[in-house]
Amino acid sequence: MIYLDNAATTNTTENVRLEMSNIIENYWANPSSSHKLGHDAKREYEIYKINISKLLNTQKENVIFTSGATESINTVLKGFWNAYPRHGRHLITSKTEHPATLEVCKFLEKNNIEITYLPVESNGKISLKFLRDAIKPQTSLISLLLVNNETGTLTDFNEIFSIKNKLNPEIKIHLDGVQALGKIKFDYNKADYVSFSAHKLHGPKGIGAILKKSDAKLFPLIHGGGQEEKYRSGTTNLAGIAGFSKAMSDSFDNIDTNFKRVFEFKNFTKALLIKNIPGLRLNSSDDTSPYILNISIPGIMGEVAVRILESKGIYVSTSSACKSKNKSKSHVLSAMGVDDKYIKGTLRISFSPYNTKDELKYFCENLIMMTKKRNVF
Ligand code: PLP
Repeated sequence: MIYLDNAATTNTTENVRLEMSNIIENYWANPSSSHKLGHDAKREYEIYKINISKLLNTQKENVIFTSGATESINTVLKGFWNAYPRHGRHLITSKTEHPATLEVCKFLEKNNIEITYLPVESNGKISLKFLRDAIKPQTSLISLLLVNNETGTLTDFNEIFSIKNKLNPEIKIHLDGVQALGKIKFDYNKADYVSFSAHKLHGPKGIGAILKKSDAKLFPLIHGGGQEEKYRSGTTNLAGIAGFSKAMSDSFDNIDTNFKRVFEFKNFTKALLIKNIPGLRLNSSDDTSPYILNISIPGIMGEVAVRILESKGIYVSTSSACKSKNKSKSHVLSAMGVDDKYIKGTLRISFSPYNTKDELKYFCENLIMMTKKRNVF
């Protein structure tokens, strides 16, 4: 099997599975219980939380575990207005966000929050001129992706921070850091809130986090037993946290070597495909995350290509996993102004340091062979 859909999810590593099974076998008690078993589980929880906080360069109170980034994003974007009831009710985001943000924004619009959706340039980057024009006295929150999950486009955060600091320093910033964590070096503490999921960096599914600045207020989405400093109730997912912590340690320890490795994978794949597939369009420009390569081949149907590759044991996707299920066309490529004839023939290839060059060679050979027989589409 050749798995090149690592932006949708990644497989857990053996290290992560071992860490989790130790917890499942030996520390299965509820960390909130007041007996010895509970205290033992709580001690493990503290160790993992401190490890994750250290990796994020913050104090443990600023890390709130959730079930994943969708919940983190919902918590920040929906709860913000209760946390800051006197702030202006205007939020700025972009047209190319993940549905976890866009669908929350639709909900907020129905609840009297004004939303501005920033357009993007043809390379997928947010138009900074539009950002300058969009900021007004009522603006309280800006929520943007750090790395786009379909194209790998990186948001120019230094520019964005300096624009907002100049025009309205009171505005809070939420980042969707899902495709960046453990992959791209970034000082997440520059933002007021950041959302993460463990399963994009070889951790388990069902666990994620919000990183918040010490002075950033947060209002819970889920009320109950008061876990996570009362910000997120529900019995602690200790095995998930253990896996998340291990996955983060392993990715942070190897962030430079992994980056170099996937950078080579992307360039190798890109070069082979460009050379051998006439008319191929690159939707990921040169300065995008090396973990994601988005291409379009006119005359092919992305979904059919995915099925044919699957029959050879190769797994890629057309766009994001959510979009593939909905069968709707990519809102990201549409916002970039990509012509429909290209959007139909789109493939997202997303790498992991655990791939090998031989796997990529095999994938390229099969895709090239397939496009030579375009009549199969
Ligand atoms: N944001 C981005 C950029 C993503 O890629 C994803 C997952 O695909 C999410 C948010 C949502 O994460 P999860 O499905 O883990 O809640």
